[in-house]
Amino acid sequence: MNFHFTPIATDGAARAGLLHTAHGTVETPVFMPVGTAGTVKAMTADAVRSTGASIILGNTYHLMLRPGADRIEALGGLHRFADWPGPILTDSGGFQIMSLGALRTLDADGVTFRSHLDGSKHRLTPEIAVHLQDQFDSTITMVLDECTKFPSTYAETETSMALSMRWAARARAAFRPRDGYALFGIVQGGIFHDLRARSAAALIDIGFDGYAIGGLAVGEGQSAMFDVLDATVPHLPPTHPRYLMGVGTPDDLLGGVARGVDMFDCVMPTRAGRTARAYTSRGVLNLRNARHAADPAPIDPACGCPACTKHSRAYLHHLFRASEMLGPMLLTWHNITYYQSLMRGLRTAIQSRTLAAHAASLRAAWQPLAP
Ligand SMILES: [Zn+2]
Repeated sequence: MNFHFTPIATDGAARAGLLHTAHGTVETPVFMPVGTAGTVKAMTADAVRSTGASIILGNTYHLMLRPGADRIEALGGLHRFADWPGPILTDSGGFQIMSLGALRTLDADGVTFRSHLDGSKHRLTPEIAVHLQDQFDSTITMVLDECTKFPSTYAETETSMALSMRWAARARAAFRPRDGYALFGIVQGGIFHDLRARSAAALIDIGFDGYAIGGLAVGEGQSAMFDVLDATVPHLPPTHPRYLMGVGTPDDLLGGVARGVDMFDCVMPTRAGRTARAYTSRGVLNLRNARHAADPAPIDPACGCPACTKHSRAYLHHLFRASEMLGPMLLTWHNITYYQSLMRGLRTAIQSRTLAAHAASLRAAWQPLAP
C-alpha cells in the first residue's frame, strides 16, 4: 500500500480527506498531539487514543539525545517503544537545534550542536536526520531545514530558503522508500510571498509525499501567517497532504483549515494542560482562578472527557492549588479531547459545506480569558 492522500470533500479552499499510511488511515484535517520524548506529556497512549487522536508527533532532537536512535531501533522502533502502533510523524530536529540558539554552528553541510542535557557534541545533516527517523520507524519523516529566524531581511531569508532546498534534495536522495511511509518537504521563505512560491516550486520539482509549511508561528502574528498561507497553498499540489508546522490556537486551526491545510501540530493544548489553562467551547479558562474554587460545574459541559464527565471545576482548581499531578493529567486529557472534537467538527462542516457558518459560530462562542 502506497502512502497517499484521498480528498473526499471540499468547501472553498478547505478540504476533508483520508491519509493512508503503513500504520493506519488518518482523517483530515487532523491535529497531531505532540509526543516530544516518546510520550504525550502526562498521558498514557490509551488516554491519547481515547481522545480520538489518530496520529502523534515525536521530536527527533529529544529522542536522538535520549534514549538515542540505536536504543529505540533495538527495542522495535518508536511505535512499540511508546505503545503507539498508529501513524507517527517525527520532525527533523532542526527546529529545536535552532531554537536552542547559542549551542549550535551551522554550515553548508549541516549543523553541529551541543546537547542541552550534558553538553555532548552532535552532528545533524540532511542524511543523518533521515537515517535517525528511519531508525525510529517514523511513518512520516520530515526533511532537515533551516528555520529562518524572525525577523529576517529578504536577502537573509532567500539565502536560508535556498540552503533548505538544497538540503531537501539531499534528504530525498537519502530516504529509503517503504510502502506506506512518507517523506515531507518543508516550504520556507519567511513572510516573503515570492520566496514561498519559489520554495514550493523547488520542492515539487524534487517530489515529496506531502508538503509542510514551516517557519510560521514564530512571531509574525496571525494575519501575516494567514497571508503567507494564502500565498503558499495555491502553489502546492491538490493531490498531496499539506501540513502547517507548530500551529496553533483553535482560531489558528480554523484559519488554516479554511485555507486548505490538512495537518497541524502544536504544544499548546498539552502545555496549557500543565499550567491550568483549559481550552473550551466557551474560550480559555484558567482553573487556578479563585472563581472556580467552589464551582460544581464541569470545565466544559459539551465535552465527554473524564475531567468533564467525572469532575468539577472546583476539583480541578483544588488539584492545581495542591500541585497534584492528576491536575495536569486530567487537564491535558481535556485539552487534547477539545482539539480532537474541534477538528472532527471541522471535518463534518467541510463535508456538509457549512464550514464558514460553523467557524463563525465557534468564534462567537469563544470569550476572552477572564482575569
Ligand atoms: Zn473535557
